[in-house]
Amino acid sequence: MTVTSHTLHAADALLPTGWARDVRLQWDATGRLTDVAPGTACPPGTPRAAGPLLPGMPNLHSHAFQRAFAGLTEYRGAAQDSFWSWRTLMYRFAGAVTPQQLEAIATGLYVEMLEAGYTSVCEFHYIHHGIDGKPYADDATLSQALLRAAARTGIGLTLLPVLYQTAGFGGLPPNEGQRRFIRSTDNMLALLERLAPLCSAQGARLGLAPHSLRAVPPESLREAVAGLHALDAQAPVHIHIAEQTGEVEACLAWSGQRPVQWLLDHAPVDARWCLVHATHMTPDEYQRAARTGAVAGLCPTTEANLGDGIFDTQAWRAAGGRWGVGSDSHATVNAAEELQMLEYGQRLTTRQRNLIASADHPAVATAMTLEAVAGGAQASARAVAGLAVGQQADWVVLDANDPLLQGLPGAEAMLSAHVFASHRRSAIADVWVAGQPRVRTGRHDLHDEALSGLATARRQLLTDTP
Ligand SMILES: [Zn+2]
Repeated sequence: MTVTSHTLHAADALLPTGWARDVRLQWDATGRLTDVAPGTACPPGTPRAAGPLLPGMPNLHSHAFQRAFAGLTEYRGAAQDSFWSWRTLMYRFAGAVTPQQLEAIATGLYVEMLEAGYTSVCEFHYIHHGIDGKPYADDATLSQALLRAAARTGIGLTLLPVLYQTAGFGGLPPNEGQRRFIRSTDNMLALLERLAPLCSAQGARLGLAPHSLRAVPPESLREAVAGLHALDAQAPVHIHIAEQTGEVEACLAWSGQRPVQWLLDHAPVDARWCLVHATHMTPDEYQRAARTGAVAGLCPTTEANLGDGIFDTQAWRAAGGRWGVGSDSHATVNAAEELQMLEYGQRLTTRQRNLIASADHPAVATAMTLEAVAGGAQASARAVAGLAVGQQADWVVLDANDPLLQGLPGAEAMLSAHVFASHRRSAIADVWVAGQPRVRTGRHDLHDEALSGLATARRQLLTDTP
């Protein structure tokens, strides 16, 4: 479905500066906004949005294959269950997934993401090799499965191939469960060169994800980041950091420093970086990390699901830190729910309310949406920073006729209800990416086919993995 008019009117739209009335949006054939004009009359016959227009949310952290076992780790296995027992099942799936299954899972997942308000995604992609651990004849086989899934569903993509070399701090050799992840630094740089034209051919962005300090030794981290930036000086770098207290303790034992402290002292962290989780930081680390301009990649529902801990959003924002949200393990796939969980975590720890608001935007859902879109766009290194000229024409239209939103006093109250009171995606009418409607009246064109493909792949994996 291709639209040719390239104009849409919205009675209310959330621009980077805040809510505006009677906004006319225009975009070009490449899907870039060329005009965003508040206070413009809507001539009869011009397409009109069915409700308030929100900027599309970039999903800054995803491991697509993990959607296939969401819901399967919610029982007590050991006396004290933890992140590490969840990782055992994750490794079973990671060890078994085929290229066809990965493509089917990602296609289903990306349809779910679009229907839930995400218009682009950063794939932190770490399964590279065949099931036996040997490289595929085409080394980019699994990356291409993700590129095809993104192209088919229409979601924007930042592809972040993961560098993974060791099983722990101090160069611990990788274990059997990690056989599909392992690459030398040179081999990773060769993969990036192979992927660069494939990504740019479909408007995807290419970056690099050193998995974590426990999986990438210092010399490799230095060489890989330098090699990436020699290829593309603005390419994004994402790293898992300080997600678990066990990781903090192991890093202290190895180096005498905490993970964020070590990273800031040994890597050129700046605005191109996304620090994924960064859950366990000292007050000094919050200050120092925020000052680098890096984005904190927060994944509130996954962090809750895995029992990671709670990021101190107040300390981060007070230090000027930027942030965005990701659905990470995909226990939940819903942009509004990530925002709700983020704010609720802060309320539960501080026993206060309405914390992630700002002087300009006292309504929490408005402030959070704008900050998460800006941070998510920065981490994606794509022009997806909201409803402004030069940015991609990505947006979400709330359904003003949804029973949940009807009769509310204005667009801001509708967004608040969408984030804090709704049964989520039901309040979303349409989702557009690069000036094309990908979701209409709540459904993606590929909804049935893509979700049944995901279910089939999951069934196969459950049968094949003992
Ligand atoms: Zn992750």
